[in-house]
Amino acid sequence: MFHQARIKLTVYYLVIILFISGLFSVAFYNASTKEIDRIISRLEFERQINETGMVRFLLSTRNTPSIEELLAYKKRMQKTLFFINGLILFAAGGAGYFLAGKTLQPIKQMVDEQNQFISDASHELRTPIATLQAEMEGKLLEKKISDRQARLLIKSNLEELGSLKNLVNRLLQLNKAHYLNGNHQVKETSLPEIINSAKNKVLALAKEKQITIDVKMPEIIIEADKDSLTEVFVILFENALKYSSAKTKVDVTGKKLPGSVLVNVSDQGIGIPQQDLPHIFERFYRADKSRSLTEGFGLGLSIAKKIIDTHKGTIKVESKINNGSVFSVMLPISEN
Ligand code: ADP
Repeated sequence: MFHQARIKLTVYYLVIILFISGLFSVAFYNASTKEIDRIISRLEFERQINETGMVRFLLSTRNTPSIEELLAYKKRMQKTLFFINGLILFAAGGAGYFLAGKTLQPIKQMVDEQNQFISDASHELRTPIATLQAEMEGKLLEKKISDRQARLLIKSNLEELGSLKNLVNRLLQLNKAHYLNGNHQVKETSLPEIINSAKNKVLALAKEKQITIDVKMPEIIIEADKDSLTEVFVILFENALKYSSAKTKVDVTGKKLPGSVLVNVSDQGIGIPQQDLPHIFERFYRADKSRSLTEGFGLGLSIAKKIIDTHKGTIKVESKINNGSVFSVMLPISEN
């Protein structure tokens, strides 16, 4: 499709360029040959007079080219113009093909990304749907099922449905983060307020695992989209809680630097293997160990990164296996 569109665009470029260059060539040819045609008709007239012997001296005294020379000149001019137009066609074809490729490249990249996204999302959606289907079909084949078995089945189905709902929510978040660029509502916001609101959203999980989230943060005002930035810290806090054992601690510290603010979220959890570190911000990437330990889809950090990118900030991680991880978010601030 991309190749076809590129060829089509090149042909459109060529048609436009050839139309303009053809028009110029015809106008140029007509303007240049008008004078020649006038000289030719005068020479023909003089030749006729000469042949009748009336004005014998007229032609011999003049330094004018002959009619044949002028006609040959016209022919040469036609050939040159055809040659120039051919050259333009050739050069414009090459340049047009190159430019069409350049114009279409971002669209191709977007389409490729979308296709990849659809294929990844469908793949992830298929697993819980297949489990649901298999469980229900299996039970349907049994002649009799007890109340207890029916309840167990419903419970398991509800878990799968919950997981599906979480996945769909994550996909929607990712889609929103993707189209955030240029659409986000940037306002002056208090960073500690954002951190506290994110903390409140994960308090239930923190209580369940008896993990304290300790926030040490001076008042810092930043220009940000409050909702999406809160989402970033919810993701980081959820991960810190998810990948930590009970009764550990999560520390959140904020520091003002020249022109930016640095927020560190440190946990005492399972850590991330070195070989996974370069990939954890990619969509659908999960480190092998976390797959078996916790529920997740490998989407949280890619959403967080996308949001931080739109805020022109950076997000980095340092981690030691079985020791914990530190996620560092750096955001620009205007210094007044
Ligand atoms: P999810 O947590 O749903 O799998 P994320 O995109 O949030 O997806 O994280 C990607 C992967 O990065 C996780 O699967 C996990 O392996 C690793 N990870 C993220 N945060 C932490 C953390 N605080 N401690 C240990 N591993 C983490």
